[in-house]
Amino acid sequence: MSFSTLSEVPSTLWLPLSALQAYRFCPRQSALIHNEQIFDENLYTLRGRLEHERVHEEGFEIKGQTHLHRGLRLFHDDLGIHGVADLVEITYQDQQITSIFPVEYKYGRRKREEHDDIQLAAQALCLEFMFRLSVPLGAIFHISSHRRRDVSIDADLRRSLFDTIHALRQMLLSQKTPPPAADQRCRLCAQADSCLPFASKKLREHRSSLQHPIE
Ligand code: SF4
Repeated sequence: MSFSTLSEVPSTLWLPLSALQAYRFCPRQSALIHNEQIFDENLYTLRGRLEHERVHEEGFEIKGQTHLHRGLRLFHDDLGIHGVADLVEITYQDQQITSIFPVEYKYGRRKREEHDDIQLAAQALCLEFMFRLSVPLGAIFHISSHRRRDVSIDADLRRSLFDTIHALRQMLLSQKTPPPAADQRCRLCAQADSCLPFASKKLREHRSSLQHPIE
């Protein structure tokens, strides 16, 4: 099923923005965290969490015409999503808002990751809902390389976000945990010790071979 407009997406279960990012990275990771309440940490998530705790501290600063809001709480009643933005830059002219620009901080070097873009798009749509203004652009700030990557919140990314919201909600409502990816994603995944991706995959293959023996 694919969704082109916001009004087509049913919202029966509130979803955290971080769950959308996790689902896009690996659906099983999202199910382990949000269905089974298993949350392990490794060096990468610990570094990321400490950086996020620093930038998530609520704060407000004015730079010229732009107000910088840190740790801003976000929500979208129609989509049923909520979370916290690391940084939102709101620019004013003659006391009118002229632009709203979300910035998500990510640990690591500058590179495009679709799951990060989905999380940023979800923030943008929350801001559009809250301020009733268009948010066509945002950015990912890569902490290790201190480089910012602009992301266009275009029609394709919005469609992809709607599909992700629907798929994640369906998965959480079903209470089913998808099979492991068992690929290169697992090397960096903090849930690997609980997930046992390669052992689980082998077990499934073994069970399947018992059900469908080669004649
Ligand atoms: S270890 Fe691999 S399969 Fe398991 S949750 Fe992480 S990425 Fe997904």
